[in-house]
Amino acid sequence: MRVMSKVLLCLALAALGHFALADEPMNRPARGPDEALALLKEGNVRFAEGRANHPHCDARQLALAAEEDQTNHAYATVLSCSDSRVPPEIVFDSGVMDIFVVRIAGNICRTDEIGSIEYGLAHVKTPLLVVLGHSKCGAVTAAAELHNGHAHELEPGVSSIVRSIQPAVKRAAEGRPGEQPDKLLDCAIEENVWNSIEQLFRQSKTVRELVLSRKAKVVGAVYDLRTHRIKWLPEEKVQSLLLKAGASGQR
Ligand SMILES: [Zn+2]
Repeated sequence: MRVMSKVLLCLALAALGHFALADEPMNRPARGPDEALALLKEGNVRFAEGRANHPHCDARQLALAAEEDQTNHAYATVLSCSDSRVPPEIVFDSGVMDIFVVRIAGNICRTDEIGSIEYGLAHVKTPLLVVLGHSKCGAVTAAAELHNGHAHELEPGVSSIVRSIQPAVKRAAEGRPGEQPDKLLDCAIEENVWNSIEQLFRQSKTVRELVLSRKAKVVGAVYDLRTHRIKWLPEEKVQSLLLKAGASGQR
């Protein structure tokens, strides 16, 4: 009888172990770009509607993070502004080991950011990059003020960031004479997202090849501080920037 009890106990533990293993992320199917994008879109809708799940923030996930390679978990790379009002994990209702985040004021894309993005796509193997701007961006506002001749004195490093955003402001202002300043700022914020994507494609052969081979997708987006919703920018424009950059790509 005692032997039988032990056998039953072993069988029960084995069954529990089987179910625990079945739940391990290591066993989940690989995610593609569209599936990853759907996860981010769904997460933002939950967040914006006050239904956030706060996934992957519990002790079990933290224990997994200590033991496992993020490559088996992270599904998106995000380039975003450093602004504390736009924390990517929170606005996408994601958690630990979900998003490989690159943050810099004004979500600009220069050498170091490109290197981090290449790492996120080619080594962490996330199938999706989102370049995320946001409404009322201070860095883009500073670039717009500089463009309008109302520049403040800035530290050299800050000035360098603002100068990187100026081409986007100039592009937004072209063909919009007399536009309201707040609308012009919104246009400049979108143009700044496109400018970052263009710089990325122009300077990274690795990213161009990953996107051309459909192993990765690049998407532009803007977060609205008032509605908490992400506006997803047209994917066709990403394709045109990719083709344009391919002809003049540097590395
Ligand atoms: Zn910003």
